[in-house]
Order: sequence, then structure tokens, then C-alpha cells
Amino acid sequence: MATDNQYSMQNPLTQYPQPEFPDQPQSAPGTVHKLHPAADHGETSYKGFGRLAGRKALITGADSGIGRAAAIAYAREGADIVLNYLPEEESDAREVVQLIEAEGRKAICLPGDLKDERFCQSLVSQAVERLGGLDILVNVAGKQQAVEAIADITTEQFDATFKSNVYALFWLCKAALPHLPAGATIINTASIQSYSPSQNLLDYASTKAAIVAFTKALAKQVIAQGVRVNAVAPGPIWTPLQPSGGQPRDKIPTFGSQTPMGRPGQPAECAPLYVFLATQESSYITGETFGVTGGTPLP
Ligand code: NAD
Ligand code: MG
Repeated sequence: MATDNQYSMQNPLTQYPQPEFPDQPQSAPGTVHKLHPAADHGETSYKGFGRLAGRKALITGADSGIGRAAAIAYAREGADIVLNYLPEEESDAREVVQLIEAEGRKAICLPGDLKDERFCQSLVSQAVERLGGLDILVNVAGKQQAVEAIADITTEQFDATFKSNVYALFWLCKAALPHLPAGATIINTASIQSYSPSQNLLDYASTKAAIVAFTKALAKQVIAQGVRVNAVAPGPIWTPLQPSGGQPRDKIPTFGSQTPMGRPGQPAECAPLYVFLATQESSYITGETFGVTGGTPLP
């Protein structure tokens, strides 16, 4: 269902599927194979030009969704990649490995739970060792579970959402920075929820707001080292996160319909921004957050 490539001119409104979509509950963390219609991660559409030739990247959440699209794009632009994801997502991850290797690039799998500080530290040190350095840290992993009322958000869920989305970011950036050379970049994943929180995403939206502040503050701090830090803030994107509890089940059929474009975005539509922010093309840009929202403006 992919279009020719990301350079064929066409109407963005009709480029990808529009609601309604079938009912399709799945359990977290979800798999791309239970998405109907299938998502586009750029498998057949992303065309690279060597813009990241020889770069070494660590991507979290690289098995599916936005992280998968970023991994495919980075490989096509010439980067070697360490992929992190949860152990139960191995089969989704293996497909990404094949796509990366098909480009003649390295794909190193280091699955594990980012809620664990020690795992985050070992993920970075192993990535540095296996890649022979680190130039790009792409934080895409995230947890989102919709709950209607604060009374029903358990401390366990609140804690897991903050550990996955905020603490992991802190631990990974802290561990990576001593290894990052001048010219390296960190790219975080915020959300439209950072600015326009939904009532049923209280914990998640709070973490995404924290990520914007974290990105701005860290960017100011580490530019002295020649390292840039930016964030991507997607609107509704067609990934396993949403039908596996990120949205209430009855919201999936109309997912994305409230945007000016009237449809959800595809992971492949996020990937070019992750590429741009990693390349030297974005050399004067740091501490910024960029929306990929189908027309809903960020403030
Ligand atoms: P996704 O389910 O495909 O990816 C999320 C990934 O996070 C999972 O594949 C999993 O590997 C990883 N993850 C979650 N908890 C983890 C943990 N404890 N340890 C290790 N890995 C863990 O969904 P996606 O939509 O591509 O999500 C990617 C990012 O995009 C997330 O940060 C999400 O908040 C953000 N985002 C998504 C949307 C959307 O509409 N899909 C909108 C805005 C922001
Ligand atoms: Mg996944």
C-alpha cells in the first residue's frame, strides 16, 4: 500500500488509508502484523541517498511503528544500527534486521526492558562496543495505555509510563553522552499530547510534556560538546501502540479522523524528519520540537 517513493508528487489526503478502520484489539506491546490496513514503514517506498553514510545509530522501539520506519530509512541512508525492543517483539524485529541487512548495513539486536536503569547502561555500552562508537541516539520507545479516570490509574501504571518514557530517556542520554563525538545528535519522540493532552492519557501526556522540556534543557547543556538534541512530535500515527490499549477500542475505527487531513499518518511519513535531524543538514537546529500531525498545529 506504499506509494512509489517519498518523492512522487501526490495528494497527501488520498496518499494513505482513511477511516473507517476495522475493530482490531491486540494486547500490548502489539505487532505490526495485526494492523488492518497494514502500516507503511517505507519498506518499498523509502529511497536513501547516503545522507548518513557510515554513521552509527542506536534506535529504541525499532521493531515496529515509527522506530521501524526510522531504522529502515537510516539503513537506506547508510547507517549501521543497534535495535532495541522488548524481548516479546523478536519476530517484528527480525523483519527489520532483514531489511537493514538487505542494504548491506549492520543490524545488531539488543532487546531488553528500558524501565531498568542497568539495562539502559548496558544497552549503550554494548552498542558502542558492537558499532565501534555512537553518533546518533534515537529514543522512540514509549508506553501508552488509555484510562478514563484518574481513580483507575494505578501507581504501577503511572510508574511504568514514566519509567518507559522519561526515566529511560534520562538513563540512555546520560550513558550515551560521554561517547558522543561533536556532530552527534540525539532525537527524542514527544507527541501532540505534549501540548494538547487527552483526558484519558493523563500519565502518558504528562511524560510527553516532560520530554519537550528535557529536550530543550539538554540541548542547551550539551551543545558545548557539539551535540544537538531535538524532538519529533507526532499526531495520530498508524502503529501497534494504538490498538493495543493506547486508545479505547471504540476509537480505533475513526483514528486520525479529527485531524485536518482526516486520516492518521503512517510511520513512513515520520521517518524523513528523524533522518533530517540526524544529518548535518540540520546543523543549526537544536532544542526544537517538530510536529508530524496531519495539520493540527503545535503551539
Ligand atoms: P510502537 O508500539 O510500534 O512502538 C513503541 C515501542 O516502544 C514498542 O515497539 C516497544 O519496542 C517499545 N517499548 C515500550 N516499552 C518498552 C520498554 N519498557 N522497554 C523497551 N522498549 C519498550 O508504537 P509507535 O506509535 O511507533 O511509538 C513510538 C513512539 O512514538 C512512542 O514514544 C510513542 O509515544 C510516540 N508517538 C506515537 C504516536 C502514535 O499515534 N502512534 C503519536 C505520538 C507519539
Ligand atoms: Mg513493537
